[in-house]
Amino acid sequence: MAPSLYIHIPFCAKKCLYCDFYSAVSQEKLASDYIQVLIKQIREIGAPVSSIYIGGGTPSVLGINLLGPLLKSLKKIFTPGIEFTIEVNGKL
Ligand code: SF4
Repeated sequence: MAPSLYIHIPFCAKKCLYCDFYSAVSQEKLASDYIQVLIKQIREIGAPVSSIYIGGGTPSVLGINLLGPLLKSLKKIFTPGIEFTIEVNGKL
């Protein structure tokens, strides 16, 4: 079975006092640079994966402007139809 891929998005809307995960308050330029490097590294994997999990941090804090290019790249790089999960935090 092919390995799974975990993608860490280390950004949040704020840093919670009790949090032990590596994360920082999201900044547009830093997050944009991070996504570009992340896409480059993912392209270099060169092997199939069975599933993809995007966690954090708070991946959804990136918004569609940054998540969109990441998801489009994943779709181009990997076989269509593989399992895909992303953590989403929000307010109703
Ligand atoms: S990862 Fe979760 S608990 Fe940690 S700072 Fe972000 S929102 Fe808070």
